Amino acid sequence: MRIKTLSAAVLITLFLCGCSEAKPVSETVFAMDTVMEFTAYGEGADDAVNLAVQAVRRLDGLLSATDPNSEVFALNSGETVELSPDTAVLLTKSLAISTLTGGAVDITIYPIVKAWGFTTSEYTIPQPSTISDLLEKVGYNKVVFDGNTRTVSLPEGMEIDFGAVAKGYASDVCVKEMTSTGVKSALINLGGNVCAIGTKTDGTPWNIAIKDPNNSDKYLGLLSVADKAVVTSGGYERYFTGDDGEVYWHIMDPSAGMPAKSGLISVTVICESGVYADGLSTALFVMGKERAIEFWREFGGFDAVLVSDDGQVYITSGIENSFTLRDTDLYTLSIFE
Ligand code: ADP
Ligand code: MG
Repeated sequence: MRIKTLSAAVLITLFLCGCSEAKPVSETVFAMDTVMEFTAYGEGADDAVNLAVQAVRRLDGLLSATDPNSEVFALNSGETVELSPDTAVLLTKSLAISTLTGGAVDITIYPIVKAWGFTTSEYTIPQPSTISDLLEKVGYNKVVFDGNTRTVSLPEGMEIDFGAVAKGYASDVCVKEMTSTGVKSALINLGGNVCAIGTKTDGTPWNIAIKDPNNSDKYLGLLSVADKAVVTSGGYERYFTGDDGEVYWHIMDPSAGMPAKSGLISVTVICESGVYADGLSTALFVMGKERAIEFWREFGGFDAVLVSDDGQVYITSGIENSFTLRDTDLYTLSIFE
């Protein structure tokens, strides 16, 4: 099997031009299995970056499914766990997103993700009978969580994976920590989960490049944003090619226990909440274009860029004036109202 993992760090390129008048404070760290970059400008920038780095390290320690000292590891080992406030908030939000998306995102998908080898990079195509047995263990509505005591226990064999939402949640925590220092201009990039605080120091919006899903060296288009999270889920980010020649990626359709082949190859969600942007980018990828647009029309509160496997780019009307497609020969742009 041919195996390819693209670094999440290159998922999104940030264009930081236009900030020459204030010297940025920057730090790059590896946490949550990805390269993270924090950049802040002006008064409080040093403290802001330090606080953000501390926050992602703390969250990584709580949320990693593979770290034997984490809360998620204890939960997945069958223990009843009294969650820390952060994990409790993330669990509550994740269950809400799972419900909102009708289970397109399901944080109890972990047994399936493991069976395909995405946790170890020892990729394999499980037998249909294995998949159907494991699907018995999947179902976010079977998680028993008491919000008052913050205790949670999982039915036997059920395991949680916050992979689809953890970085988005971490970016929300970082925004809170960084703005607490008085910083008004900063960028957080948690391996493709980008959060813009304020604007550039000259008052103009940040320009964020969305990776071209068909060419890792190029970008698909630019988004200009202020005070927004921009999160991309791409099939190209982690995948393997099976002996059957099929490409299998790490975004699963929880109803099938298989990689989601919905016709979409990249989904970017833009909204104020990092955790919703992260959860929804995975969910819309699973849903496919038609259901994703229906979902947007029904619930709103976010914008999206959808890229389909036939070279179409669909954007929602809220970003009509802030998204620029790079190559109009390669891609055709449509706008949803
Ligand atoms: P990434 O974290 O790679 O940027 P996503 O936010 O789309 O991309 O999350 C994908 C990760 O979430 C997978 O690696 C897996 O751990 C987990 N996952 C995959 N499919 C689902 C799903 N349908 N619902 C919840 N979690 C999922
Ligand atoms: Mg996600």
